[in-house]
Amino acid sequence: MIDLHAHSNVSDGTDTPAELMVKAATAGLSTIALTDHDTTGGWAEAAAACQELGLTFVPGIEMTVRNQGRSQHLLGYWPDPTGEALTGILDRLITSRDERMLKLLANLNSHGVAVTEATVRDFAGQGVIGKPHVADALVAGGYVSDRAHAFATWLADDHPVYVARWAPTIEEAIAALVAAGAAPVIAHSRARGSDLSEERYAELQTLGMVGIEVDHQDHPDDVRAELRGIAANLGLVVTGSSDHHGSGKVDHDLGCNTTSSEAFEALRSFRRVGSP
Ligand code: AMP
Ligand code: ZN
Ligand code: FE
Ligand code: FE
Repeated sequence: MIDLHAHSNVSDGTDTPAELMVKAATAGLSTIALTDHDTTGGWAEAAAACQELGLTFVPGIEMTVRNQGRSQHLLGYWPDPTGEALTGILDRLITSRDERMLKLLANLNSHGVAVTEATVRDFAGQGVIGKPHVADALVAGGYVSDRAHAFATWLADDHPVYVARWAPTIEEAIAALVAAGAAPVIAHSRARGSDLSEERYAELQTLGMVGIEVDHQDHPDDVRAELRGIAANLGLVVTGSSDHHGSGKVDHDLGCNTTSSEAFEALRSFRRVGSP
C-alpha cells in the first residue's frame, strides 16, 4: 500500500517523523511520503526510520500557493531541498507564517480571546507554525473542544479575525519544484472551495505539473470520478493519500486512500535528474 501525503510535527501533524513511519509500517503501508507544509525538515529522521522498518520513503513537501486568487495546496515529490528557487520560496513562506500568527493572535485578543504567542509556539515546538497550532492553543485555553471546533468557530477564512499570508503563485511554485527536480501534483484540488477546471489543469500541465491527488477524504465519490476523467483525458497521474495529521485530524487514518503501484511508477518516472 502506497500513501503519498502525510504530516509530522515538523509541521502540523502530531507525531514525530520517526513515530509517523512506525505507524505507517503498523498500518501495513509499503511506501510513505512525508509531505509537511512548506518544509523538508523532517526528511532525514523519516528516511532513517523507513530504512530500519523496510519501508520505501518518498521525500515530499506540501506548499501553500495561490491559484487564480485562491489558496491552493501543491505537493512536490523528490525535490532537491537545496534548489535555490525552492528554498527562496520556502524561507518566505515560513516568515509569512510567523507574521500571520502574530496578527491573528492580536485579532483574537481584540475579540477577548486570551491566547498567547508562547502557548502557540509551545504547540508548534521546533516545527513550522500553522493555524492548527493556534487551534491547539484555543483548545488549551478552554475556548473550543478540539481543532475542528477551533476551525469552525474562529479560524475559517471568512471569519473577521482571518489574516492572509503570503504565498507564491502556483506557476512560480511549479517552476521552483521543476527546477529542483521534483514531480509536482495538485493536492486535494476540490477541497475547501477550490475549483480548477480541465482547461486550468491542462495549462498547469504545460508548466510541469504531472498529477492530481484524486482519492482524498475531502473528495466525495462524484468529485473523484470527475477528476479521474480529467486525469485520463490529459494523461495525468492519479494519486491517493490519507493526508494524515496524527491525532490532529479525524477520519484521515494512514492508508485510508492509496496510490496504485502503476501510478507510483508513473510518478517516479517524472523524478528529474539531481533530485534525491
Ligand atoms: P495553515 O497551513 O497554517 O494556513 O493552516 C491550514 C491548515 O489547517 C490546513 O493545511 C489543514 O491541515 C488545517 N485545517 C484546515 N481546516 C481544518 C479543520 N477544519 N480541522 C482541522 N484542521 C484543519
Ligand atoms: Zn496540515
Ligand atoms: Fe493540504
Ligand atoms: Fe496535507
